[in-house]
Amino acid sequence: MDGSMNINPSEQELGAADAPFYLPQDDEIDVFAAAYTNRLPVLLKGPTGCGKTRFVTHMAAQLGRPLYTVACHDDLSAADLIGRYLLKGGETVWVDGPLTRAVREGAICYLDEVVEARKDVTVVLHPLTDDRRILPIDRTGEELEAAPGFMLVASYNPGYQNILKTLKPSTRQRFVSLEFDFPAPGLETRVVAQESGLDPDRCAALVRLAGKLRALKGQDLEEGVSTRLVVYAATLIAQGMSTDRAILAAMVEPLTDDEDTKRGLLDLVAAIF
Ligand code: ADP
Repeated sequence: MDGSMNINPSEQELGAADAPFYLPQDDEIDVFAAAYTNRLPVLLKGPTGCGKTRFVTHMAAQLGRPLYTVACHDDLSAADLIGRYLLKGGETVWVDGPLTRAVREGAICYLDEVVEARKDVTVVLHPLTDDRRILPIDRTGEELEAAPGFMLVASYNPGYQNILKTLKPSTRQRFVSLEFDFPAPGLETRVVAQESGLDPDRCAALVRLAGKLRALKGQDLEEGVSTRLVVYAATLIAQGMSTDRAILAAMVEPLTDDEDTKRGLLDLVAAIF
């Protein structure tokens, strides 16, 4: 099987000038930059859609490093990250996976939702996250020393955690960790306005609604509404969609399939708009 089929890393190389917009919530930019300078791996913890990926993209551009992003899933194995032998034109050739490429090139490798990946992935990360910074490639017998600019960044969402899918202490204690959450209302309004082009007043109202919806997490909702969804709603409104329709499509339907819960959420919407 062509293993490259089930992994689709996105590769990006941006300079500081075209770093995507990122509004800091705290001192995360300084902490990340210090970790990079000291060759320490970083773990980003936080709910989905709160800005973790945007932050890494921004930092990679600021630091002038290429970025390999891998969205981890439960079928993702160490070989998907490291590489494998593939048949090409009748010949068997070794093809580096995204982690190996990043190690060789001195790039940033971002493993999004790392707990989703198979267990053998964490084993590979261990020698890369201590001061040896090596990647053993069993298949080729190589032991790669990471190039100076290499940095490993991983994210996970503690909210999805269950007994089977948790990051073992022996793994998590190898990373400098940054906790992310949805930005405070004033900041989130600025993010939503910047991303969507909608006027700040209407963005502030959507952010207020998001706050109310997030308060339902754990009762009726598994996850609160993400900043990403608030940006979607604002974008649809900025494009001319009615506010009610946009909120239903972007901030209510994605949260639940249960009709009673949906009605409850729509009551909250009616109280604000
Ligand atoms: P995560 O990786 O945490 O799931 P993303 O980084 O993809 O989330 O964030 C989703 C969207 O939210 C981004 O595409 C961006 O539009 C917006 N966003 C969230 N936080 C910020 C921020 N601090 N600065 C700029 N954009 C943000």
